[in-house]
Amino acid sequence: MSEAATLTRKADFPGLVTEVGKPWHYLDTAASAQKPQVVVDAMSRALGRDYATVHRGVYGRSARMTLGYEAARRRVADFIGARSENEVVFVRGATEAINLVAAAWGMTRIGQGDRIILSTLEHHSNIVPWQMLAERTGAEIEVCPLTADGQIDLGGLEALLSPRTKLVALAHVSNVLGSVLDARRAAELAHSVGAKILLDGCQAAPRMKLDMAALDCDFYVFSGHKLYGPTGIGVLWAREDILAHMPPYQGGGAMIEKVAFDGTTYAPPPQRFEAGTPMITEAIALHAAIDYVDAFGPDRLFAHEAALAAQLRAELRKLNAVTLFGPEESAGIVSFALDGVHPHDLGTILDEEHVAIRAGHHCAQPLMEHLGVPATTRASFGLYSDEDDIAALMRGIERTRRIFG
Ligand code: PMP
Repeated sequence: MSEAATLTRKADFPGLVTEVGKPWHYLDTAASAQKPQVVVDAMSRALGRDYATVHRGVYGRSARMTLGYEAARRRVADFIGARSENEVVFVRGATEAINLVAAAWGMTRIGQGDRIILSTLEHHSNIVPWQMLAERTGAEIEVCPLTADGQIDLGGLEALLSPRTKLVALAHVSNVLGSVLDARRAAELAHSVGAKILLDGCQAAPRMKLDMAALDCDFYVFSGHKLYGPTGIGVLWAREDILAHMPPYQGGGAMIEKVAFDGTTYAPPPQRFEAGTPMITEAIALHAAIDYVDAFGPDRLFAHEAALAAQLRAELRKLNAVTLFGPEESAGIVSFALDGVHPHDLGTILDEEHVAIRAGHHCAQPLMEHLGVPATTRASFGLYSDEDDIAALMRGIERTRRIFG
């Protein structure tokens, strides 16, 4: 059996059928992954017979929920190779994690004339919070170029670095091109001038083995819903010594040590950054999702999706009517343009064939401008994807070409 065949577990995913019970060829996993039944069940149990709030109950149910919530934090720490669960802050998603770092760390560590380096391929959520910070502080944004095949150019990064560089914020895996960053080297470069590095791991966490100690970065962020978990939960990982010196992001319950009108003191991390009632059921369901994904082994998962991406590129190339964007060897994400057909028209026709792809700018407008296109068509794979999905996509593309003559 091929690697692809052994990984495919469509039956575990109730969302992979259409409303009329036909197979749904879901190729939009980079936007949000379908959920295995174990995650749906964990969420339903947590919202049902196990439900109570955390951190304040004197009754047993609340104490058990607190244990469940904190067990989820330990599971995340273990999954990403964190040194301690105190380095794991639960947030609403990657977007909130980046805004938290920009507000809490950035506002105290970045000033007039300081430099923040981003790359051309960043998702808007790794651009806009830094622009807002730059506006408030007088810092400047610099943009690291890409290589010709769409990878972050580390030579270009090196050339931009200076003692004024305070932060380098880069995608570990591009959500449009599937390019994989040599994150360890990027961290080494950032640290060589005393800058911190934030990695946007939204597309890496669901498809790569993560090891915070080995990556040697300072901040790492990702969203649970792309990791086969629920929406409304994500992770900010940061080194304990950095978190310890960061002021709170939001104020409220649960993030304090003592509140008084003549002065309030704050809880240590991670609680300092989790104001209010947290995402209890989402954390518990994320725990189930991580157990599910980890059982496959992130390295096998990467290989499975990369093989599908390579196969799709080869089939698209045979059409002689397609522009492919991004590196030849990538994670399981493929962006392309079909000659003479707008990505939205292609997406609409593919939908009739029960194939779901993404058409648009993928929240990466500066990258679209760099590629010289308003939009691309993107197919992205998950652990349930297989060769049937590619075959269905190719049939849909052939039909589209016939329609458009
Ligand atoms: N960064 C990347 C690379 C992404 O793919 C996404 C989601 N498309 C985000 C950040 C933002 O994630 P979220 O919307 O879940 O906060």
